[in-house]
Amino acid sequence: MAKSDTEVAIIGGGAAGIAAGRRLAKAAIECLVIEARPRLGGRAWTVTDDPGNALDLGCGWLHSADRNPWVAVAQAQGRVIDRSAPPWQKPALPIGFPPDEQAAFGKAQRAFFERLEAIGQKSPDVSASAAFDPNCRWNGMINAVGTYISGAEMEKVSALDFDNYADTEINWRVREGYGTAIAAHGDGLRTVLDCPVLQIDRRGRRLKIETAKGTVTADQVIVTLPSAIIAEKEFLFAPALPDKTEAAAGLPLGLADKLFLSLSGAEEFEADSRLFGRTDRTATATYALRPLGRPLIEVYFGGRFAKELEAGGDEAFADYAIAELVHLLGEDFRKRVKPLRIHRWAADPFALGSYSYAKPGKADCRTTLAEPVDGRLFFAGEACSEHDFSTAHGGYLTGVAAADQAIAARKRAQA
Ligand SMILES: Cc1cc2nc3c(=O)[nH]c(=O)nc-3n(C[C@H](O)[C@H](O)[C@H](O)COP(=O)(O)OP(=O)(O)OC[C@H]3O[C@@H](n4cnc5c(N)ncnc54)[C@H](O)[C@@H]3O)c2cc1C
Repeated sequence: MAKSDTEVAIIGGGAAGIAAGRRLAKAAIECLVIEARPRLGGRAWTVTDDPGNALDLGCGWLHSADRNPWVAVAQAQGRVIDRSAPPWQKPALPIGFPPDEQAAFGKAQRAFFERLEAIGQKSPDVSASAAFDPNCRWNGMINAVGTYISGAEMEKVSALDFDNYADTEINWRVREGYGTAIAAHGDGLRTVLDCPVLQIDRRGRRLKIETAKGTVTADQVIVTLPSAIIAEKEFLFAPALPDKTEAAAGLPLGLADKLFLSLSGAEEFEADSRLFGRTDRTATATYALRPLGRPLIEVYFGGRFAKELEAGGDEAFADYAIAELVHLLGEDFRKRVKPLRIHRWAADPFALGSYSYAKPGKADCRTTLAEPVDGRLFFAGEACSEHDFSTAHGGYLTGVAAADQAIAARKRAQA
């Protein structure tokens, strides 16, 4: 490491860490982003296929786009924002899911969310699965959609936390990739890559950050690690911060994995249309056909089912998806699709999952996790957001908030 001392060390260079770094740089405060991976972006990660299409293996949708700060960032970078409606706001293709069944499912799902909202506002907090109508034939599929939203089955998720999520229901995309825009926002920040942080020693006057590449000293640290990693790393802080470890444990990362398939003869399908695999159970995938008009299928897997497939390696996802598509579209369809990319987020040692949910009774862990310690340690990352958790804009907003807290603490210390 060229220079191992800084005013503020930022642990993790994802959406939150990058946003924090930019905020500090604007305030002319020296900072160093310490990132375990060989790239910036974290769970925001765009790769390209051979023809050059951007494939977002992590976040892809600018959720709450009308108030999402990444929109302005991407526009300032000269990127193209696509404002077409997302597949989930339109009827699915009727293949294997006729319109009358879609209408019945839609009605059952709306009723579920209404009950969930009512339950979420009651005390004490319970599992979101309390909102199921035991006699409803669509419970399996509602739970499947729940795993796409939360990364976990509804029985594992806090009703209060689920209800706390704020969504304006405006969803846009960056044609060049959400991950591309987020990583590029880190250009110009002082960064050290391939450098996992092992421990933050807060015993001395200055903080000592032990990394795989040596020790960094800093006045202040902003921790943006995924909550699952904070929960798992018993020796992350010295002395330990049991409140933080416990809060992080209340906010596990759910699992969502995306598989991209190439599709020949794609024009047969409407751009941004969608198919459901099975409609009678939770263990199934959803298929976005021709995302952004491209000759691709983006397959989404969630929750326990995604975890089981991860155990079978990358091929397990492709085998499952192709079998389900062939079941819906006929044997000839097999020749038209080819696996392109998948990333197994639970197996990723620097993520351990996809996005956070709160366990029942643990919604307030988000506030506890976000609280600063001693004016020297600050916390950011999607799991710290009370209303925008599990998203890249939640990461951004908590990163800026943590940087502002660090700036205010510096001013107090200097006064
Ligand atoms: C499949 C999938 C789909 C998604 N879809 C969307 C979507 O459509 N819209 C949306 O808004 N969000 C979506 N998300 C969620 C979104 O990607 C995340 O919420 C967001 O990127 C999290 O940002 P963050 O900065 O909080 O965390 P991260 O991006 O995880 O950043 C933390 C950083 O810490 C690093 N790190 C880990 N361990 C160490 C260590 N020991 N030392 C140093 N660094 C370390 C990591 O490598 C990472 O770069 C999706 C996520 C996935 C996986």
